Amino acid sequence: MKKVWTTVFLSLLLVCTLSTGARAMENDMLKVGLKYGSDAMYSANLQNYDNAGLGYRFGYFDSARSFVPLGAETAESKVSISIDDNLFISGSTYYLSDTNYTQYIGAYHLQLEQHYETYDEAAAVAANYGGGFVAFLTDHYAVRVNQYRTEEGVRRAYGEWTGEDTVEIVSPSRTGVMVTVSGTDRILFYFDCGGLRSLGVEPMSRNGEKPLTWFRGYRYYGGFEYQRVTGGNISVINVVNVEDYVKGCVGWEIGNDKPLEAIKAQAVCARTYAAMQTRHRSQGFDVCPTDDCQVYQGVASANDLTDRAVDETAGKYLYYNGKYVEAYYYSSNGGASEDAKNVWGNEMGYLKGKPDPYEAAIAARVAKYNWSTTFTRAEIAAKLAARNINIGTIKNVFVSEYTANGNVYALTFVGSKGNKTVYREQCRTILSLRSMRFTVDGTGGNTFFVNDNATSVTGIRGLFTISGNGEVGQYSGAPTDACVITADGTAKLQKDPATVTSSQETFTVTGSGWGHNVGMSQWGATAMAEQGFDYQDILQFYYTGVTIE
Ligand SMILES: [Zn+2]
Repeated sequence: MKKVWTTVFLSLLLVCTLSTGARAMENDMLKVGLKYGSDAMYSANLQNYDNAGLGYRFGYFDSARSFVPLGAETAESKVSISIDDNLFISGSTYYLSDTNYTQYIGAYHLQLEQHYETYDEAAAVAANYGGGFVAFLTDHYAVRVNQYRTEEGVRRAYGEWTGEDTVEIVSPSRTGVMVTVSGTDRILFYFDCGGLRSLGVEPMSRNGEKPLTWFRGYRYYGGFEYQRVTGGNISVINVVNVEDYVKGCVGWEIGNDKPLEAIKAQAVCARTYAAMQTRHRSQGFDVCPTDDCQVYQGVASANDLTDRAVDETAGKYLYYNGKYVEAYYYSSNGGASEDAKNVWGNEMGYLKGKPDPYEAAIAARVAKYNWSTTFTRAEIAAKLAARNINIGTIKNVFVSEYTANGNVYALTFVGSKGNKTVYREQCRTILSLRSMRFTVDGTGGNTFFVNDNATSVTGIRGLFTISGNGEVGQYSGAPTDACVITADGTAKLQKDPATVTSSQETFTVTGSGWGHNVGMSQWGATAMAEQGFDYQDILQFYYTGVTIE
């Protein structure tokens, strides 16, 4: 998931308005936006997978996300849901332009004036007409006959109509969608509720098995919703039980070959994250399928192990003071996690940094766990310029403050035209570093570090010093923010580090870990699982003061 503070803040605001423990989703059903915005589709195909599916039922999902059938169904395995427009068919594909087509679907029809209460009544009448089909229009059913590509065509047919039913002309609707047998001009069903409701499609089961459905190269559990609220193309939404969703994404998020208890910890995080998301609501769904939220491609990454991890934690969520936790996680922290406040600026009681005694056990197996990057002066200047920071030629770079956990809190750049200090997450992102746990070989720094960077102070008077041969003494010199303690135990005054320049042509950043260090370390979780801890131990370690229920 992408970790953007404004998002966290907004989400918290919204979640706080829900009653304690309330889910953002109803009936444990989650809406995943598979195609939307610029990816919305004018025509979307569905196909039953194997023998598990046996055609589809058509209806809509109500406000509780329960499927409400409208009586229409088909045993066809391949159906397409398309916008109400002329579609031209070439091979098994629909096109909006009319080149090289051999068949077409016309968007103009004649419609019987009679309204019908049930699908079956309307279908019985439609069967009397070749090419007749049933349309659901907000609160009733209607029967439409024939297809025409142009208004002139349908007007001519209207003038020549000799049937005993009274008919009217219908033109393409900005909110209408039609269901066809894929690659044919056969319309199975038409749906238009003026954008107030959206067509829902539910795959039917064979022998009670839970059906899987192909959509765009992936297999999905659950049903699909086709939103066409304000015209334009169709947003395709997977309406899926949250447990099936978590089974789909947990393997992508931590890997489907990790220890069971680590995957279970990830499953609880993924389930909690999904339950509290509200920022995609204005787009008509809860979560998107990319790492903006959590990667989800149906069952593509699921296996017996991930399914078991999800089943064994089914219905478990992470709470802090009775509210959902923003269950942030990252790959590895390099030795210590960090307070959310020191990364994103806002205090979060359960996102507290601490030394991580577990990662060390797996560090040797993690690619680039320890990393190092060297920048030239010009490369650093370019990175700063990309953020509109222009301080001339780079003269020095150093860490100017560490957190109590030994992660970088402030990073100072000295330039020929001025200095710039960045704080918190920017220390990592401004140079595109892998983590916020690093040192820089520039000169200086106005903070002193004791206990292996675990504690920092900004003056040295009264500090105990230890010399290179082990003698301990108490420093009593002038307090200053610009001192260093040398190997022989004396403190040496130094120029204001903000004006310290270095003759270095390059600066090397050396660090460990990968990610933002807030919340759970996925590699740390793996190490804990290997050391015999269970998923609750893992979650309790990485999230302070949380409950799992
Ligand atoms: Zn998203």
